[in-house]
Amino acid sequence: MQIKKIRNRNILFTYRQPAGWDINVQLILGNRYNFIIDTGLGSLSMEPVKEYIKHDAKPIIVINTHYHWDHIWGNGSFRDCTILSHTRCREMIEQNWEEMMQKYGQHVDGEAEKRLPDLTFEQEIYFPDDQIRIMFTPGHTADSISVMDELEKVIHVGDNIGDTMEELVPSLYGEKDDYIKTLLKYKDMDMDLCVSGHNTVLEKQVFNKILDLL
Ligand SMILES: [Zn+2]
Repeated sequence: MQIKKIRNRNILFTYRQPAGWDINVQLILGNRYNFIIDTGLGSLSMEPVKEYIKHDAKPIIVINTHYHWDHIWGNGSFRDCTILSHTRCREMIEQNWEEMMQKYGQHVDGEAEKRLPDLTFEQEIYFPDDQIRIMFTPGHTADSISVMDELEKVIHVGDNIGDTMEELVPSLYGEKDDYIKTLLKYKDMDMDLCVSGHNTVLEKQVFNKILDLL
């Protein structure tokens, strides 16, 4: 596990997996809230993140970028925190929990207790004191959202960028048309750095590359 400060208030926790892929969990130290984007593979994965902010009394908002198992299994570590997602994400976690656990349960890190998001939205939600904007950006899945730090110009796009530099186009469980609209929306945004669920930290031009590859 590697902890990297990618901007002043943006910290990236990267977990190397035996299977060869990485998992990114992002922490944004806001003014009013601390935001944790995705919760990885379970309770043990969340320990370093909790440790990092153990002397920080600000309330935590946990964000699930989409319903996939490798982004939600640590939700149970945040009993007293708000967990935020798209409305469909909550439904899809509920519908797919058992099946995901049966198929991929060998990857659980510690414990994976089912905890559904308790604050959901459809299009957009904004935290003005923190300058954090969370937007519906379907593509990789029909419930995918992105988190924009407007102060430091860092966006987290969930799995809307593929897992490696060789595979920049993600697996599309959602509609391709929606994904193209989402890419065009990213291109209009003011950002410097793009974080995603499994790839390295990239720059905005990655979206042009992906559009060329589609
Ligand atoms: Zn995914």
